[in-house]
Amino acid sequence: MTGPSTLPASAASFADRLDRLAQVAVRVGLGLRPGQELVMTAPLEAVALARAITEHAYRAGASLVTTFYADDAATLARFSHAPDEAFDHAAGWLYAGMADAYRSGAARLAISGDDPSLLAGQDPTKVARANRARSRAYVPALELIAGFSTNWTIVSAATTPWARTVFPDLPEDEALARLWDAVFAASRIDGPDPVAAWETHNRDLRERTERLNGARFAALRFVGPGTDLTVGLADDHEWCGGATTAKNGIVCNANIPTEEVFTTPHRMRVDGFVTSTKPLSYQGTLIDGIRVRFSEGRIVEATARTGADVLAKVLETDEGAARLGEVALVPASSAISASGLLFYNTLYDENAASHIALGQAYSKCFRNGGEGLSEADLTERGANRSLIHIDWMIGSAEIDVDGLSETGEAVPVMRRGEWV
Ligand code: ZN
Ligand code: ZN
Repeated sequence: MTGPSTLPASAASFADRLDRLAQVAVRVGLGLRPGQELVMTAPLEAVALARAITEHAYRAGASLVTTFYADDAATLARFSHAPDEAFDHAAGWLYAGMADAYRSGAARLAISGDDPSLLAGQDPTKVARANRARSRAYVPALELIAGFSTNWTIVSAATTPWARTVFPDLPEDEALARLWDAVFAASRIDGPDPVAAWETHNRDLRERTERLNGARFAALRFVGPGTDLTVGLADDHEWCGGATTAKNGIVCNANIPTEEVFTTPHRMRVDGFVTSTKPLSYQGTLIDGIRVRFSEGRIVEATARTGADVLAKVLETDEGAARLGEVALVPASSAISASGLLFYNTLYDENAASHIALGQAYSKCFRNGGEGLSEADLTERGANRSLIHIDWMIGSAEIDVDGLSETGEAVPVMRRGEWV
């Protein structure tokens, strides 16, 4: 496999490329407005990117940038030394404060780059309790984010533990450099004008969603090795992808990179069986070889080659955790897939393959962006509700996808992982 970069790494210095990524995060990812506050979360190791983003945010007129850093060593110290009852505790005040900030107009940026297997050696019950407590405490903030009350984005930074997972056979420095190359290439910052490259990409994604919205399929059917799954789509669903207009009127790109077009499944109309095509990295644990069966929207059988106990706990989170909140189509030839790498990071791997997500639906994937629909209206149309939203990959170059009309007529949408 050759490296994923299209330009030689020497064409621009690392500092230049980091600066371009920060610029794309602020201008394309957030569309930050002069006077807007920015709340950022970042792994400690991503401090260089966080600082570059902070600089670009202030240059774009940000009134205040506040960053919360997460430290892997501190997280592990908690699992080693905190009292047992501590694992049902979460910093609710912090997430309530973030929700306050979003409600009063702050933008949100998350840098992802976490160690995919940070918690792999920890007691799965403690991991599940800690995740559940955090998920619950996070609800007020998550609802505002999922509903695009404000403009937000997630961007990645290469970090040593992440690089070690992606390139286990390379020396650490080389692994980190290779991962940065992959991050820069996937984030489309290596060409002469990254912001213009994103405008073109967003236009392509919009054409794709317009075609799917025109077709008004009632369901999608995925067929391939270990998979024959029919995903009914929510009534009045709309396909989304690329740039989004948040409720504050600001156009943002929630994911840098992004290759997917996605919509809301009907939580009661998913049937059949499906096998994951890539491992799922879930809050520090790898879940691999997932095989599940759905009946009337709900997972009724679930197995996994590794991480089965964590998967079982995830599915028990709440009533909506065993139902779908998203279905997304990504060609197997996407830039990220073409890198041939497994990233162990959902932001990357979900853009390498078609996927489904357990849990919370995006209320914006409805006609008119879901404007004016109450929770009851969303539920009536089939939107799922849950504390969790976990994407997992079911697409590959071996999967065919058909769109099914209301009368069950099949229209080829993808063949061998590519758009028809
Ligand atoms: Zn997705
Ligand atoms: Zn998702």
